[in-house]
Amino acid sequence: MQQSTGLLYVVATPIGNLGDMTDRARKVLSEVDLIAAEDTRQTLRLLTHFGISSKLVAYHDHNEASVAPRLLAEIESGRNVALVSDAGTPLISDPGFSLVAAARERGLGVVPVPGANAAICALSAAGLPSDRFLFVGFPPRTRSHRLAWLGGLAAERGTLILYESGKRILATLADIGEALGETRRLVLARELTKHFETFLVGTVSELAQRIEGDAEQRLGELVVLIEGNTATGDPDRAEAERVLRILGESLPLAQAVAIAARLTGVKKNALYRLGLELDVGRSVAVTDDEA
Ligand code: SAM
Repeated sequence: MQQSTGLLYVVATPIGNLGDMTDRARKVLSEVDLIAAEDTRQTLRLLTHFGISSKLVAYHDHNEASVAPRLLAEIESGRNVALVSDAGTPLISDPGFSLVAAARERGLGVVPVPGANAAICALSAAGLPSDRFLFVGFPPRTRSHRLAWLGGLAAERGTLILYESGKRILATLADIGEALGETRRLVLARELTKHFETFLVGTVSELAQRIEGDAEQRLGELVVLIEGNTATGDPDRAEAERVLRILGESLPLAQAVAIAARLTGVKKNALYRLGLELDVGRSVAVTDDEA
């Protein structure tokens, strides 16, 4: 008789408040043969709190290539495995994608056990449009990559959702201001579901000022929500604005307009007016070579 295979459960855990652990997550975690956890010590604390004694195995970015085949073999031989991350939903800026993809490829059953997720939790209470949104995870660490990455999001009309740590929030805010404009509306959702949960609402510059003057706002974990590009309602203009801003950083307006026209196909007159409106490209210093 053919042996039946097990299942891979993808189990969400709380992002701070243990009251958010679902009954189903507890049941699944106590009944599976093996729990694959991003950080076994962290998960052990959670399991101990709920009196769960299932066996744990470490599964993280650095060992997934060697551990994933073992987990898949366990499932194929009939055992049930649960995947958890340190907090929230696995795979969402957390390990697990390659395991789930490989399980699907092998035709194994993958069962989601939903629960907390910081992005959705923040969006649900931010008061920014929630009919269309784009989750983009953590911004790149280096400034030039971050600016280019943000520039690529400038035309997005849905609410943007980013993850960030309190330590890097001021640098990231400065770059959001530069790439998307200082007047974009933002919501910073900090320490969600925890004792010091805070929602700060304002423009980029207002929030940067607020956080600069209050070190507490730089502690802990943050979700950054950015209002989508609703100012223009015109994706061509949004792209032209983005290109002009970048070129205007190092070129005088006339040159920036000429190149932006070739890159975007927007007429020079319109770009020139836009450049004046945005005040780009005018304060570029003339170097000795050019003088
Ligand atoms: N998988 C998790 C989820 O479902 O939300 C996210 C894991 S990711 C490694 C951690 C990031 O999520 C943090 O740096 C922060 O941006 C966000 N985050 C997690 N918990 C949070 C909380 N309680 N409050 C605010 N942001 C949180």
